Amino acid sequence: MRYLVCIKQTPDTAELPKITPEEAASGKFSVNLVVNPWDELAIEAGLKLMETYGGVTGAITVGDEGAIDALRSALAMGCKDATLVKNVGADVSGVADLLAAAVKKDGDVGVVVTGQMTVDGNSGSLPVVLGRKLGWPVLTGVAKIVDLADDSITVERTVGQARLTVKTSLPAVVSVNKEIGEPRYPTFINIRKAARVKAPVLTADDLGVEVPAPVVHMTNFRKPPARDAKVQLFEGSPQEAAAALVDALLAEKVL
Ligand SMILES: Cc1cc2nc3c(=O)[nH]c(=O)nc-3n(C[C@H](O)[C@H](O)[C@H](O)COP(=O)(O)OP(=O)(O)OC[C@H]3O[C@@H](n4cnc5c(N)ncnc54)[C@H](O)[C@@H]3O)c2cc1C
Repeated sequence: MRYLVCIKQTPDTAELPKITPEEAASGKFSVNLVVNPWDELAIEAGLKLMETYGGVTGAITVGDEGAIDALRSALAMGCKDATLVKNVGADVSGVADLLAAAVKKDGDVGVVVTGQMTVDGNSGSLPVVLGRKLGWPVLTGVAKIVDLADDSITVERTVGQARLTVKTSLPAVVSVNKEIGEPRYPTFINIRKAARVKAPVLTADDLGVEVPAPVVHMTNFRKPPARDAKVQLFEGSPQEAAAALVDALLAEKVL
């Protein structure tokens, strides 16, 4: 069976505070870009499917030319092939149109694996919209893949503190959460091999997709105001400090 992992290149979370609202709205960042951390989990799930049940796991992204680096990371982790679909400034519906067309063009995909959300767009909506466009069942919040047969997949979903076992027919879209397991480190040899790979690049025209103009427009994208927090240290003996703390809490009406 063929498994396709959807990944997105996003800003390194350590760099998120440096992003300007303009960069966030345009999708063009001047910070270090990496594989969306949630998608490393998706890659791990895709690789485990290949190792446990046989078949081939590939990676796909909708992004600009620079997103090849994210695909190389997926290859270095162990994905067998990688495809870049050029983004044309689409919203989630357009990105899902492009991915759905690429999945269909791929031909033999039994399971599309996605992350739970991205650290930039953060809508968590892509897997569901993609499933809707493909007409496939969607399993979200997947913590464990229990079984895979020729025509079905059984998973455990996280539901609050509980686990729910669900079985559905294939092909299907599966969105995994962090309980799926730690993503593996890329191997040195795979990093070297991936550095030389030229991933196929598909455009909307290649896929026969007319990407709709975004119906979702980002407006008033801004950083939250700086927190008006203060730190107060109480000096003296433990008894004096505790008494001063109680006085301060009473004055602030916390007690
Ligand atoms: C130039 C540009 C212009 C844009 N303009 C708009 C706009 O006008 N309106 C608007 O709403 N959005 C816009 N976007 C944002 C873009 O549509 C979203 O990044 C995309 O829809 C994914 O949404 P999300 O980040 O919330 O993903 P989520 O739904 O949070 O992601 C969940 C999972 O879906 C998969 N996934 C998400 N994105 C991709 C991807 N690109 N390729 C492969 N898999 C993916 C990953 O597995 C991820 O873990 C723009 C982006 C760019 C680069």
